[in-house]
Amino acid sequence: MKNQEQKGLIFNIQRFSIHDGPGIRTTVFMKGCPLRCRWCSNPESQNPYPEIMTYDVKCIRCGKCEQICPMNAITISQKGRKIARTQCTLCLKCAEVCPTGAISISGKYMTIEEVMKEVGSDKLFYQNSGGGVTISGGEPLSQWEFVLQLLKECKQEGLHTALDTCGYAPWHILEKVLEHTDLILFDIKHINSSQHRKGTGKGNRLILDNAKRTAAKVRTWLRFPLIPGYNDSDEHVREVAELATKIRVEKVSILPYHEWGKAKYEKLGRRYPFKNTQTLSDWHIQKLQKIIENMGLKVTVGN
Ligand code: SF4
Ligand code: SF4
Repeated sequence: MKNQEQKGLIFNIQRFSIHDGPGIRTTVFMKGCPLRCRWCSNPESQNPYPEIMTYDVKCIRCGKCEQICPMNAITISQKGRKIARTQCTLCLKCAEVCPTGAISISGKYMTIEEVMKEVGSDKLFYQNSGGGVTISGGEPLSQWEFVLQLLKECKQEGLHTALDTCGYAPWHILEKVLEHTDLILFDIKHINSSQHRKGTGKGNRLILDNAKRTAAKVRTWLRFPLIPGYNDSDEHVREVAELATKIRVEKVSILPYHEWGKAKYEKLGRRYPFKNTQTLSDWHIQKLQKIIENMGLKVTVGN
């Protein structure tokens, strides 16, 4: 397939990012993920198709969405606009006619050229800061053919490339992508496979195997989302550090749990699946950071 024809489904392109690898970066967020992490802060990243998101405060009750909906899924009343999500077929027509952005589309099909135009505009910032382009998600490997081509184009432009992955993909695919990736941000959520399944919907055998093979080939940062009550015990953090030591990653990045994505579930008409009863204090995070440091590893919080 020619580059011009190849399209990827992207839900965000974030410029001037300082949290997804070294320096100032542009992060391309691919839509679609094989995992369903209960704490996911980007629920719009999970489904591999465009979706509608609602912003109730922007609704002026003009009725355009109600008129156009072929499924009669929308009703307007004094209380506002309601969408019966079970009737919705995601035709996206309501978002197309909404004049205020009270219904918007998450997910856009873009060509390699369109993405390159956006990521190429900040070259000077990348050069001055040691930054580059990070492909994230969702899970970028769920659209690996597009991502592979995008990484190749970035390398041809002399850009530093990073891939943020959960590692849940066949090795022969990951291996191809690694050839054009300077840095891997490899997410490890839990060392125990049944706990991993509880938290994400999938076991971790493939992931741990891929982590080992990846770190042997490419510069790797192990990313550890720290989830209260799920993977934040001293014992488990030690196990993560042991893995990091064994597979020889460059550093461990602790990503503390936050609830910034909670409101997005409502905008997607979904229920927030993570029932969090515990908090992560700075003291707790620092204590766990120390455990990893004391095992001779470099560790950072937040990137
Ligand atoms: S996306 Fe759903 S709610 Fe909107 S017009 Fe189509 S069917 Fe109706
Ligand atoms: S088209 Fe937009 S602004 Fe008008 S009623 Fe529907 S959601 Fe509200």
